[in-house]
Amino acid sequence: MTIFHDVPVTGFTGGRLDRADELRRDPAALIALRARADARWLVLDKLNPVVRPGNKEGDPPGILWAYRSDVPHDALSIFVGMDGEAPRFAAAAPSDELVSDFGGQVLDARAAGALLPAPEAAIVAQARSIIDWHQRHGFCAVCGAPTQLAKAGYARQCSGCKAEHFPRVDPVVIMLAVKDGHALVGRQPRFPRRFLSALAGFVEPGESLEEAVRRELWEEAGITTSRVRYLASQPWPFPSSLMIAAFAEAQGFDVRLDEEELEEVRWVTKDEVRAALAGAGDWLAPPPMAIAHTLLKCWADEP
Ligand SMILES: [Zn+2]
Repeated sequence: MTIFHDVPVTGFTGGRLDRADELRRDPAALIALRARADARWLVLDKLNPVVRPGNKEGDPPGILWAYRSDVPHDALSIFVGMDGEAPRFAAAAPSDELVSDFGGQVLDARAAGALLPAPEAAIVAQARSIIDWHQRHGFCAVCGAPTQLAKAGYARQCSGCKAEHFPRVDPVVIMLAVKDGHALVGRQPRFPRRFLSALAGFVEPGESLEEAVRRELWEEAGITTSRVRYLASQPWPFPSSLMIAAFAEAQGFDVRLDEEELEEVRWVTKDEVRAALAGAGDWLAPPPMAIAHTLLKCWADEP
């Protein structure tokens, strides 16, 4: 069995904060953390991070860390963790004025995964998924009463039946069927022209990751597969997916397309993948921030 020792870092991975779960349950500690002089806030404007732009000297853009005084009292605010001794929070900008007040630029959250330093992009992913979840879960799914933020942002509690609700993560398998030096890539109708990528789909209740990989390949391309090998995973905060990348050994080359899901599938060789990753192929491969790129690169580099 091949073990990958050197899986490249994909977008939104590489976080370095201590998420400090024990502090989330300690209201007095949280009040003290918020009051510290070195406490800072990542501000999200419509779920996109506020950043300081890059410069001509080649410095990349970075999170524009806001002071407590920059963040309105009633802004939705969550604790994201400790950067060494310094507490880090994230807040939803309640209005456009806030952003213009304290400067900075709003960066598209997808672009943040490619442009920000990895530890900062990871904070954006964490904050974006959780804040989005709060904004869509103001009412209890059990009894319909209003819910309130709890555990520093890692739960909501119902004001009626007291049920606790937790932020969800939605697992998605993304995979390459492989056989005899070929891998299967496909084009969804929404993809740009000439763009091909790994096939993907949500894991359904009551199935393992391996079963989800095999089912998706069968449904979308009519491929039957045997052994499934896990490679790596990536948080994908749109709104809260976890991409789980794997290889699956195909039992044949014949394909049967699900034309609602895919416009085209193609078996490609390692040389073709290397050329596409280098921007020199006759098709466009996913960018390095996407785990589909990691899948293709690791497969093409595999001896
Ligand atoms: Zn309730």
